[in-house]
Amino acid sequence: MTNEYQIRVVPEVAAQEDRLKAYLAEEQGFDVRTIYGVRILKRSIDARQRQIYVNLKVRVYINEQPHDDEYQHTDYPNVEGKPQVIVVGAGPGGLFAALRLIELGYRPIVLERGKDVHERKKDLANITKTQKVDPESNYCFGEGGAGAYSDGKLYTRSKKRGNTDKILNVFCQHGASTAILSDAHPHIGTDRLSKVIEAMRNTIINSGGEVHFQTKMTQLILEGDGVVGCVADKEYRGPVILATGHSARDVYRYLSKAKIEVEAKGIAVGVRLEHPSQLIDQIQYHNKQGRGKYLPAAEYAMVTQVEGRGVYSFCMCPGGFVIPAATDKEQIVVNGMSPASRGTAWSNSGMVVEVRQEDIEGEDVLKVMRFQEELERMCWQQGNMRQTAPAQRMADFVNGKLSYDLPKSSYAPGLISSPLHFWLPKMISKRLQEGFKTFGRNAHGFLTNEAVLIAVETRTSSPVRIVRDRETLQHIRIQGLFPCGEGAGYAGGIVSAGVDGERCAEMAAVYLEKR
Ligand SMILES: Cc1cc2nc3c(=O)[nH]c(=O)nc-3n(C[C@H](O)[C@H](O)[C@H](O)COP(=O)(O)OP(=O)(O)OC[C@H]3O[C@@H](n4cnc5c(N)ncnc54)[C@H](O)[C@@H]3O)c2cc1C
Repeated sequence: MTNEYQIRVVPEVAAQEDRLKAYLAEEQGFDVRTIYGVRILKRSIDARQRQIYVNLKVRVYINEQPHDDEYQHTDYPNVEGKPQVIVVGAGPGGLFAALRLIELGYRPIVLERGKDVHERKKDLANITKTQKVDPESNYCFGEGGAGAYSDGKLYTRSKKRGNTDKILNVFCQHGASTAILSDAHPHIGTDRLSKVIEAMRNTIINSGGEVHFQTKMTQLILEGDGVVGCVADKEYRGPVILATGHSARDVYRYLSKAKIEVEAKGIAVGVRLEHPSQLIDQIQYHNKQGRGKYLPAAEYAMVTQVEGRGVYSFCMCPGGFVIPAATDKEQIVVNGMSPASRGTAWSNSGMVVEVRQEDIEGEDVLKVMRFQEELERMCWQQGNMRQTAPAQRMADFVNGKLSYDLPKSSYAPGLISSPLHFWLPKMISKRLQEGFKTFGRNAHGFLTNEAVLIAVETRTSSPVRIVRDRETLQHIRIQGLFPCGEGAGYAGGIVSAGVDGERCAEMAAVYLEKR
């Protein structure tokens, strides 16, 4: 027999199966020896009060062993010899498009400009060693895309729950912990993501698809009003799912030059803010001792409005690292990632200000992208033309004071003290200063010189939308071209890019069926 219960327990009970069984036995009046297993179906932490609780939905197996699958399995048939679809980009958008194509009986040919997920790691280490970024292999380019070396947070604001569940189940099938199916805020962790991504690639190849690394698409092949393929190291023929992410500026430039419609869109710009994780734990868990043995590194989400624009935390990485995420030589871009344990001594988050396209002068469709580029280059100049990032203590920034020294940081290439309040565009710095004051009032201890701002965070979303038809997901004017994922401006985050990848694959299949 199985029964499901909704319970609210203290963290030490939630974390230990024996304690959980004992609790359930007592609550429900069972003999504990009849409980053969407990499966957690949903888990969330309620940290609103001094006593922290964990809300759990559990399935209890009474006098029977747990037998049902922990995740929903997807079958991938052999697609050798089937009609092919070209998928450009092996980020979450491209990988999920490729897997869905296989499910539907089509053969994906994946082209990725960067290296495989393991080779790529060496180039990431080199950024700290040499202070130089490889423009083809970095934190944004390479197998797994921008999602590979990340926190692997898998929550999304997408309301299409069914589609999101499918993405999480496919991750589990490729080696992610099934805890991602139950956690309210699931995450995989950068140390585990590479194995999951490699397993996804193996499914594509073992099913008869192809994956080509260090193969950069340089142009599309247009015949009449349709795309029939693309050019990389050679010509590849088939409809094209373009999942190149928001950092492929050469792709936006190419599309704009080739008169393939794109439009400017708003983004958010700011800094990475890094606190000691112990401090964030103390604030969020209302406890001087921090999180203790049974709670994870604490998260936060902050949002306010300043002078008509949103100021908010973005992509929080509890117990993580700040990383150099530039994609070209003369840029500094920062972002965050965390290991599965979320166990480092720091917690960081993007702190960004909404930038609308009307905030930037001009009519040019690439103007928001150019704004990003200028800021990233300015940051590199401020950082002594290396990857040492300009930084300022948080309270100093709010008070408009240069920091005489900086706290220890997880940012491996190093920090250099810089008056961010002075040289960041005023529309950003003024709003951040006001926003931080509000956040400091709401969370006592948050606004502190123990925290450091690291510049600059610009890659929050795509500065361009590659305009597509709502129904067919094809480019608004060009058939056979499916702009996909974050780079197309239709997704933000790993899961939503994955969902969009699946939808583009389905529409590419419909397109091929009609021909
Ligand atoms: C450091 C970091 C941490 C992040 N943390 C999280 C997180 O915790 N949770 C979350 O949901 N999101 C996170 N994100 C955002 C998330 O990674 C992206 O939203 C997601 O990866 C977008 O997926 P995508 O497939 O659309 O594009 P991308 O992941 O950007 O993939 C695009 C791929 O296309 C390739 N490419 C580009 N141009 C070409 C070309 N011309 N030819 C061939 N290949 C090309 C690139 O090399 C890249 O691999 C993070 C991003 C970064 C950078």
